[in-house]
Amino acid sequence: MASIFSKIVAGEIPCYKVAETEHCFAFLDINPVVKGHVLCIPKQEVDYIFDLDDELFCELHLFAKKVAKGLKKVCPCIKVGEAVVGIDVPHVHIHLMPLNKPGDLNFGHHVAMTPEELKALASEISAAIEW
Ligand code: 5GP
Repeated sequence: MASIFSKIVAGEIPCYKVAETEHCFAFLDINPVVKGHVLCIPKQEVDYIFDLDDELFCELHLFAKKVAKGLKKVCPCIKVGEAVVGIDVPHVHIHLMPLNKPGDLNFGHHVAMTPEELKALASEISAAIEW
């Protein structure tokens, strides 16, 4: 069965899309830990990040780097943090999160954002990414 993220890539489930290339896709996390919480995924459905082939592993990280630079322009922060967990969704994803203090990367904490705010934020980040 296709993962929820494969369904997002296929357009079967809506998302707030941030970026897309031939092999990678980025969208806002539906339950953001901080404002600007983005997920970067390979379109290929692989569960565990260290099972990706070398080429896609590198491509995904270079994609995440581009997205992170755009994200930092839109969400002022000290650094954009990166985390890989993958306990809930068995489809590789890199979490990108704007960080302003150590506790910001805390999966036990969430910020409330309206659909309108998420939509506007996704399009701002998308426009800020330099390819
Ligand atoms: P992990 O697998 O790394 O523990 O976390 C999965 C992440 O995916 C969570 O942060 C969760 O909020 C996010 N997530 C789960 N389902 C969806 C969804 O349908 N849409 C979006 N945009 N994010 C999701």
